[in-house]
Amino acid sequence: ATAQVGVTGLAVMGRNLARNLARNGFTVAVHNRSPERTRRLIAEHGGEGTFVPSESLGDFVDSLERPRAIIVMVKAGAPTDAVVNELVPLLEPGDIVVDCGNAHFAATRRREETLRGHGLHFVGTGVSGGEEGALHGPSIMPGGSAESYARLGPMFEKIAAQVDGTPCCRHIGPDGAGHFVKMVHNGIEYADMQLIAEAYDLLRAGMSASPAEIAEIFREWNSGELESFLIEITADVLAHTDAATGRPFVDVVLDQAEQKGTGRWTVQNALDLGIPITGIAEATFARSLSGHADQRAAARRAFAAASEKWQVEERGTFVEDVRRALLASKIVAYAQGFDHIRAGSREYDWNIDLGGTATIWRGGCIIRARFLDRIREAYDAEPELPTLLVAPWFAETVNAGVPGWRKVVAYAARAGVPTPAFSSSLAYFDALRAERLPAALIQALRDDFGAHTYRRVDRAGSFHTLWAGDRSEVEA
Ligand code: NDP
Repeated sequence: ATAQVGVTGLAVMGRNLARNLARNGFTVAVHNRSPERTRRLIAEHGGEGTFVPSESLGDFVDSLERPRAIIVMVKAGAPTDAVVNELVPLLEPGDIVVDCGNAHFAATRRREETLRGHGLHFVGTGVSGGEEGALHGPSIMPGGSAESYARLGPMFEKIAAQVDGTPCCRHIGPDGAGHFVKMVHNGIEYADMQLIAEAYDLLRAGMSASPAEIAEIFREWNSGELESFLIEITADVLAHTDAATGRPFVDVVLDQAEQKGTGRWTVQNALDLGIPITGIAEATFARSLSGHADQRAAARRAFAAASEKWQVEERGTFVEDVRRALLASKIVAYAQGFDHIRAGSREYDWNIDLGGTATIWRGGCIIRARFLDRIREAYDAEPELPTLLVAPWFAETVNAGVPGWRKVVAYAARAGVPTPAFSSSLAYFDALRAERLPAALIQALRDDFGAHTYRRVDRAGSFHTLWAGDRSEVEA
């Protein structure tokens, strides 16, 4: 047994993760169900480091130092169970199985419990950054036991992206914590992308600007507070011309956005936990809506003339208003995402460090951004922050952006430009800061039709009004 770590599942992600480990000096056992992938990895990249290839799972397990550390990088779902079930009888107590696939955190919790019963560690690990990240340095979010992290940490921290000398990897918390945080990360990614898309759409509609002109605006934005990987590649994509037609590339792409499901998981779980992640939810629904081609065609015919033609008067002001609306809405989406992580951490007893989580998203992953340093600073200064929105830098930025944000949302409504994420983020902000909410009326109605009782602003206790009787109030 000579290999320090093993990788089974050598499609794009597993193969690149194995190469990353080997390039960093680790001896890597490699295996894949169909041996051609293993052979190809050795033939094409065997010289990058020390690999120990095996064609059977038994040989693969035997080639590993104990306690074994085995990374499973196969298609999420049933294939993960198939591989894990095959591995378990070959392993010994103390061995570690790391699932780096995109598993649902509930499945990870289930698998962790089963393997714990066999004396094994199961470490559900979120890996972000796609195939490039896997090769050059991803953001790594491992769950599982602290004991397993003592073995895996030094390896993962070495192969992860590094920002200012800090690795984009840290132990998130027990069992499913890593996959949970990866799930919310993906949800935030949905919100981020939707907000960028709305900003683009507004600039295009409001100024009749070309995609190439808007690319310049995004490039400019990328040198300020909005600096991030997604803003950078937005400029890149908008500047791209389709070779076949000579048209802006964005205009030849069908306007239906797909999804693999992590946004949906995030929203489903937030509903269960009662956390309003409206930005992520709007972004997820916006993708669904875009795919309903028949409804869109019917509505287009029925409501062609339902909005005003509007051009903004002063371009510079408008661009700045959109920038501020984008930044404020983005702050709302992140505040909601971190609320969600905190709620998950409480619900499942994970004790997740919120500031630390922001730290490991600064590099490697899709939502990497300058902005994340602010989040870490905010939670470091006040771990019990009620919402990220009220941390000093965020509160100042949002306050400064409010007038522009309102103008942009009002403009969008008049011009008939759909801005579900901008609009709902503003509504969330206004609801959160409202002195009184019409929730009072809702609770009164609930008492009227269902005797659900209400609490009063002036006295403790629960009350019910005898709506069908003499309308006197009784203590419930
Ligand atoms: P795929 O999701 O396409 O999975 C292909 C791999 O799974 C192959 O190695 C295949 O083996 C193996 N496999 C499938 N079914 C079984 C089975 N029943 N038993 C054994 N092995 C099986 O590969 P990716 O590299 O794209 O992704 C791997 C994991 O990483 C997935 O969970 C994915 O969600 C996750 N992920 C992917 C990212 C990406 O950008 N692609 C980013 C982050 C995470 P064989 O060659 O024999 O068919």
